[in-house]
Amino acid sequence: MSVSIKSEHEIELMRHAGHLLEQVHDELASHIKPGISTKELDRIGEDMIRSMGCIPNFKNYQGFPASFCISLNDEVVHGIPSRQKIIQEGDLVKIDAGLIYKGYHSDSAKTHGVGVISEEDRKLIEVAKESFYEGIKFAKLGYRLSDISHAIQAHVEKHGFSVVRDLVGHGVGVDLHEDPQIPNYGPAGKGPRLQEGMVLAIEPMINAGRYQVKTLADGWTIVTVDGKKSAHYEHTIAITNDEPIILSSL
Ligand code: MG
Ligand code: MG
Repeated sequence: MSVSIKSEHEIELMRHAGHLLEQVHDELASHIKPGISTKELDRIGEDMIRSMGCIPNFKNYQGFPASFCISLNDEVVHGIPSRQKIIQEGDLVKIDAGLIYKGYHSDSAKTHGVGVISEEDRKLIEVAKESFYEGIKFAKLGYRLSDISHAIQAHVEKHGFSVVRDLVGHGVGVDLHEDPQIPNYGPAGKGPRLQEGMVLAIEPMINAGRYQVKTLADGWTIVTVDGKKSAHYEHTIAITNDEPIILSSL
């Protein structure tokens, strides 16, 4: 495993990529309403990314047929946008988005509740986000990679939810998925020591029920085995000599 270290200039480019990506998320969030299809959201987002002079990095990635992964309810990640998938009141909508700006990737994901959602669903969304912030308390010099993983798992399980095992966070840079892999669970104190200039996509995927997931026959969509709901929260961050910088936020 080789973890690439980014220069200050590269991190500046990635910060710009992340700012653009956050604007795309904001635009999509304003369109998430009952009646819109996930295909339409994908089109709106792709048009916006291209109008920024950027490239949607998920499109054709290992053959993925759209620009965004849009996953509903018990779908964990990698949902394929479709005209047949119409958003409804009460849905959990996970948008995983990425773009390339001047050769550098940014990657982030959010979960939205549509209209009135249940208290448990609200909590699931909140705990996914909180667990990201718990994790990055350890995204600093002096810690090892799995200190992040462990903090995420501890927070999620404290609230009675489970952490998906089969999918992990990752390094990001000139490639969408670089080393290292970053599980959202496991013992603390393992893996590489964190170094200034590492850029990582930290992305807890958490389930309301059991952690097991499976892939649907379309070859992409990952769903919970027990049919319960799932939430996802992701940002691209940079390790510095002080606090981490969340590159994919404004
Ligand atoms: Mg992502
Ligand atoms: Mg990612």
